[in-house]
Amino acid sequence: MIYLAIDIGGTSIKGGFYEESGNCLKGFSFPTHGDLPGTESFAAFISNLKNEVEAFADRDSIVAAGIGCPGTIDSLKGICNFANNLDWHEVNIREAIESIIHRPVFVTNDANAALLGEMTYGDCKKYRSAILLTLGTGIGGGIYLNGELFDGEEGKGAELGHMVIVKDGEPCTCGRKGCFEAYASATALIRHGQEGVARNPNSLLAKSLVTAKSIFDAAKAGDVLANECVDWYVEHLGIGVLNYINIFRPQAIIFSGGVSNAGDRLLNPLREYLEKENWGIAGRWCAKPVLAIASLGDRSGRLGALALAVRKSK
Ligand SMILES: [Zn+2]
Repeated sequence: MIYLAIDIGGTSIKGGFYEESGNCLKGFSFPTHGDLPGTESFAAFISNLKNEVEAFADRDSIVAAGIGCPGTIDSLKGICNFANNLDWHEVNIREAIESIIHRPVFVTNDANAALLGEMTYGDCKKYRSAILLTLGTGIGGGIYLNGELFDGEEGKGAELGHMVIVKDGEPCTCGRKGCFEAYASATALIRHGQEGVARNPNSLLAKSLVTAKSIFDAAKAGDVLANECVDWYVEHLGIGVLNYINIFRPQAIIFSGGVSNAGDRLLNPLREYLEKENWGIAGRWCAKPVLAIASLGDRSGRLGALALAVRKSK
């Protein structure tokens, strides 16, 4: 049995023909063409995919396909309702791919796919429950409970970035103010760093472009401003993480996305914050959740799409 697994990203679409074990028999990658109108980039994707499937000798052994896609996804219908950076509106991914492989196609959003990948093929596969937070341009979220993904009606839940943590706070892309995403995404960290640089033009941080990496690097080098930025960031991240610990009491919290590249320089101060807060209301009487960095790197989306296809087609 062979599965088609695809991870649609902002710059490239990566996929492959896989065995259930996670072994990739043949991989492929196409540019996303985010510069083109959405109808054209989607048509190019489907055309490229059709060529790949036709060139794959064992195509008759494909039993199902799994797709991870950014944006708002209707996982029941397999439609991308809206993906801002792809300019996709009401794009029927399932129908288009089923017409190529003539087998069932399952679609989920990219954060859910990444979490499924980590929980099926990554270091956290030994756990039954986890929360995933992708700390990138925004915050992507995924919830995994009792061995299964929890994604709400039509797969539209688990928007973990849009919990308000500061009343009347920073504006969020969703239209509300004070969302977790507006304080704990990479964008928020960079914004805070830039504001600090404007006030402290002589700081080490002012000597290069402000990025999540430059902030953590300057903090390690002892820069006062950068350390203030990291403290500010970790405190806001900690507020959100602690809320999720109180609600779900997961075995693991998994971090991915740009800020997670800081590794222990992120996790150690976060762990200190959570210790100070006793790991939540039940923390004294319960095992502490493991804080982990996603272990599969950029393969998590594809392997999650594979896990989705395998699980749904059984
Ligand atoms: Zn929001």
